[in-house]
Amino acid sequence: MLSLQRLLPAALSLRSLLQWVSLWRIVIEIAFRISHTNADTFLTLETYFQKIDVGRTTFRASTSVAAPATPTVRNGKTELNMAATVDLKGKVAFIAGVADSTGYGWAIAKSLANAGATIIVGTWPPVLKIFEKGLERGNFDADSILDDGSKMEIAKVYPLDAVFDTPDDVPEEIKTNKRYAGLDGYTIEEVAKAVEADYGKIDIVIHSLANGPEVTKPLLETSRKGYLAASSASAYSAVSLLQKFAPFMNEGGAFLSLTYIASEKVIPGYGGGMSSAKAQLESDTKVLAFEAGRKYGIRVNTISAGPLKSRAASAIGKEPGQKTFIEYAIDYSKANAPLAQDLYSEDVGNTALFLTSPLGRTVTGVTMYVDNGLHCMGMAIDSKSMDGRAMF
Ligand code: NAD
Repeated sequence: MLSLQRLLPAALSLRSLLQWVSLWRIVIEIAFRISHTNADTFLTLETYFQKIDVGRTTFRASTSVAAPATPTVRNGKTELNMAATVDLKGKVAFIAGVADSTGYGWAIAKSLANAGATIIVGTWPPVLKIFEKGLERGNFDADSILDDGSKMEIAKVYPLDAVFDTPDDVPEEIKTNKRYAGLDGYTIEEVAKAVEADYGKIDIVIHSLANGPEVTKPLLETSRKGYLAASSASAYSAVSLLQKFAPFMNEGGAFLSLTYIASEKVIPGYGGGMSSAKAQLESDTKVLAFEAGRKYGIRVNTISAGPLKSRAASAIGKEPGQKTFIEYAIDYSKANAPLAQDLYSEDVGNTALFLTSPLGRTVTGVTMYVDNGLHCMGMAIDSKSMDGRAMF
């Protein structure tokens, strides 16, 4: 019979033999891959090294990046499924400017909800009742389905009129207006206080609203009142929102707004000072990125979105017998943008997820174009003057 004293040394030498064998396997495999160098090999090695976290950014703000990126194989290439790594569970996102499921605010809410964020929204009082009724009746259910098959839940809807900062700003005719009847606490300051009381600290604030009462008028015919109203509702509202929400946002949080190319290029039909308001919004994005970055550690960005047939955009105007402004804008984009493909609100939602999650940890002060590249064109390739000219 074998005694323990004889068995133990034999077991130890077998273990060291196995260790040597596995060490040599790794050395041979690395040598083999380096000798067959190509892009795929580097990706394979990268995923290998990921496990030991070599040369990778660790997201400080992110208990939220939960699992390591899952490699998937498509067309024989390894791709990192980054979306699977965004985990916003435990984060709260307030989205100002949601009143139905057709607009960018809704799509952003869905993207953030897909990543696990708690969604709360701010809705303009004149459309609040119809939105709440729609939610109750399940009118938006089909547009609420998340990637895992569950339904997006809007945890709370706050009445919000973003042209008023404090109760003192609300004029008598608004207080007594039937569309505001029975409501109070809808100024930015009051909504911020209510959100803080309900949720404590929050992480993400989205400004997805705009309003220009004279939008259908050329700038040359816009009144001072109309111009300032566009600026107040569409640009200063973002400054005020950040001003009032930032003090109770977590460090590492993000603020995001939506802008339009009319800020920097002439878009006939987008009038009433709305182009000016969008230019303000983009300029303010940079200044606020600096100030809120230094003061609160919050990032501030804006997405310059391509044309989408939302409710607000559909209201921009139409000549009898013609398409609406937004229908022209969509057709123009398809005919002239580098990417001749449809743009969906989800495309903006996904970019918003990047910009507001730890994936965009170091991105601030930018205007990010999500427009199939239309912004970079200097010539309309479907113009009559270009007839007969080969494009490329
Ligand atoms: P939308 O109708 O979904 O959103 C606009 C929202 O603003 C509406 O819910 C409306 O009720 C709200 N609103 C208006 N005045 C308000 C006020 N005083 N206080 C609070 N809320 C108010 O339409 P959308 O087109 O998705 O617009 C969202 C943002 O996207 C806007 O900033 C818009 O300028 C921008 N954008 C839209 C397009 C487009 O083609 N649709 C393109 C680029 C940028």
